[in-house]
Order: sequence, then C-alpha cells, then structure tokens
Amino acid sequence: MFKTVRGMRDLMPVDAERMRHVEQVSREVSKLYGYEEIITPILESYDLLAAKTSEEIRERMYTFKDLGSRKVAMRPEFTASVARLVASKLRNEPKPMRLFSVGSLYRYDEPQYGRFREFWQSNYELFGSDRPEADAEILMLTNDLLKRLGLKNYRFKIGHTGILKGILDQEEMGEAKQNSVRQLLDKKSWEDALAVARDADVSQKCLAALERLFETRGEDAFKVLETVKETVSGYDGAVAAADNLWKILELVKDSGVKLEITVEAGFARGLEYYTGMIFESYVPALDVALGGGGRYDRLIQLFGGEPIPAVGVAQGIDRIVLALKKQKVSPKSGKEKSVVVISVKDESMGKALELSDMLRKSGLAVEVAVMGRSVSRALADADRRGVAYAVIVGPKELEEKKVVLKDMDKGEQKTVLISDLTEAIFSGSK
Ligand code: AMP
Repeated sequence: MFKTVRGMRDLMPVDAERMRHVEQVSREVSKLYGYEEIITPILESYDLLAAKTSEEIRERMYTFKDLGSRKVAMRPEFTASVARLVASKLRNEPKPMRLFSVGSLYRYDEPQYGRFREFWQSNYELFGSDRPEADAEILMLTNDLLKRLGLKNYRFKIGHTGILKGILDQEEMGEAKQNSVRQLLDKKSWEDALAVARDADVSQKCLAALERLFETRGEDAFKVLETVKETVSGYDGAVAAADNLWKILELVKDSGVKLEITVEAGFARGLEYYTGMIFESYVPALDVALGGGGRYDRLIQLFGGEPIPAVGVAQGIDRIVLALKKQKVSPKSGKEKSVVVISVKDESMGKALELSDMLRKSGLAVEVAVMGRSVSRALADADRRGVAYAVIVGPKELEEKKVVLKDMDKGEQKTVLISDLTEAIFSGSK
C-alpha cells in the first residue's frame, strides 16, 4: 500500500470543505477591499525564490533540476512571485495596485501541529503607497476576514522592524549581523540576540536600549510606544519607526474597528524583506501564528523594478481551520437542500437524468442513484448520508407527468406533478 510522502496530507471531505470555505471567504474579502486575484505558478526559478527569502526558508525549499536542467523550486511563499510580476508585467500599472493570491506553498519544515510541508495561504498585497493608511487597511482586512469566519478571541501581535534597524544602523552593524539578530528574536532567543550585538562591539547605550526593548510589550499600544520612544531617544531612525507605528494604530483606532493587540518592541519576523510595521494574528489556544505580514518597501527594487512601497499579509488557511475547529465553529453546510433522484426502472433513467438537470438549474444539489440498487436500498443509502429529499421516478407516475417526492427527515411522501416539483422542494425545505 502506498502512503503519502512525509509532511503531505490527504484532506478528507470535512477538512477539504473547511479549507475551501476559508479560501472562499478570503476571496470574498479580496473583492470587498478591491484586491484583484492573480494566479502564479507553483514552480518558479530557484534564483527568484532564493533571492530575498530568509536563509531559513531558503534551506527548506523543495529544489530540483527539471528535465531541461533548469534549477527550479516549489514556491515557499507568494511574495517573490508577486514581486516578480510587479517588477515586470505589471510595472506600468497605475498605483495603488491591490493583488490577491491563494494556493498551496511548500516548505521542508519539520511536521508538527500546525506545521506542514504543503500548506495553503491567502495573500493580500497593496503596492504603491508608503502611507500609514495602507498599513491600517491590511490590519483591518485581516480582522475582517477572521471575524467573517466566525473566529473568536483572536489577537494581533504588532511591532516595527525600523525600531531595531534604526538603532543597529546607527551603530553601523552590517546587514548580515542584523539579520541574525532578527532571526534570533523571531525564535524568542533574546539572550542570544544580545550576545550577537555584544560581539559586534555595539555601544553600552545600545546594549542597554536593546535589553530594555526586548522586555517592552503590552496591550496599551500607545503607552508601550511612549516607552519605546523614551528607550530609543537619540536613535532617530528608531524614533521615526515608533512614530510611524503610532500613526498606523491611531488610524485603526479612529476607524472604530476594535483590534485586540499587543505591541512588542522586540518582535521580529523570519522573512528578511520587511522594512516597517510587522504583525501576526493568533488565538491564545493555539501556540502558532494564524497569519502574518507587514511592510516591505524595498522588495520590488530587489527584483529589478522601480522602488515601489508595499504592504501585505499572508493568512495561513490550514491554521485558521485548526483554530475554527478548536472553537467548534463550522462552515454552514450546503446539505440542507440536497436531493437524490432514484429511477425505479431502467426505462425511467433518462427521465431521472432530465429531472436532475432541471433541479440543479434551480440551484439544488442533486445526486442521481447510480448503483442500480432497489428503491428501498437507495433510500436507505440517501438517509445514511443526510440527503434531504428523494425524488422517485417510476413509469406509473410518469404516465401522469408525476413523480414521488419523499421528505427524508419527516419520512413523508407524496405524488407531485413534475411541473410543481421544484416549488414543492423549496416550499417544504426548512
Ligand atoms: P510566513 O509566510 O512565514 O509569514 O507565514 C504566514 C502564515 O502562513 C503563518 O502565520 C502560518 O499560518 C502559515 N504557515 C507558514 N508556514 C507554515 C507551515 N509549514 N504549515 C502551515 N502553515 C504555515
């Protein structure tokens, strides 16, 4: 017997339905906010994908040579593909440009709860604006999606890469070292991050500021930002970053949308390309982020395009499904109005198929009994699977242009004119 490859999953109907539901609501939200969907390939050139993702993800890419000896990889994220387009085919499009993508991604992560080697994201990116209202829109959109899905108690963890960068730039720490500090912070290894800074010969003032920043977090965003500004005074870039985050959160507050947030001064995200506000969404019951995003103003330039400011978010569909399951929130099932059409004899099968077509045209979900079973066995099977109505098509009733309609819940059946059938199903349905 063959098994799935380690880290790969088969999604059974219940889970597949949940995943598609989150995908569908993600798409609805994209339309409500004016994000246009693009579809990019799963397979991209290795060089593109390796260009600006983090070292950690680069090492975990599924990479191989295709039959034409091209070095290719399966996408570990959407942003590189979208950036490729924005730097090329879409370069002359008027700004702002709002793009949506949804699909599967591949990372050779160690499989564990909420971590898979094939997973799904819905991704929203807003290009062309460096203003705080663009950042605020991404936060509000993420909130909107989670709310529409019926998720409760979700929170946002928010930071700003400019706070740390402002300090380390002024201390003249090189980019590679800054990246390793960020990666350590991403893993919450505060002590190790401080050790890297110490080894890089930063000033005592810097070490003291970092130490304090790593402990600065709280739910009263503006109070936290006051502390941050005090801590980083003298580091102009860092002060400007704190001011920028202040403005973004003030706009969200003014919008009237209530976000539950924790501002964390030492918060860093794994991907290297972030330049401004960064955030993750999560629910306390789940120890992993549901989604994450932020601002990345220099990314498009790295792909050879004009500098275009950008802010975006990747929603982890698998983990949102896990969170919804934990909270026992189910998508509304489309099963209530499902119908099975059973032909009593072979000679009425053509008519049964015709009726199934007619009922589907009116929006009903219709299955035709295809196993050649007796009517009673076909009915028992429909009952087991929770089908709401059975239409039994027999030669005798057909002579009078009628069929038998059975309400499976009530167990009642009646003979109805075919011309009244659709109406009878709809009026009888709950
Ligand atoms: P990232 O692209 O790393 O910023 O991740 C954004 C979101 O994608 C995360 O918050 C997760 O919800 C989801 N995600 C990332 N990696 C995985 C994985 N290996 N398995 C499942 N979901 C993932």
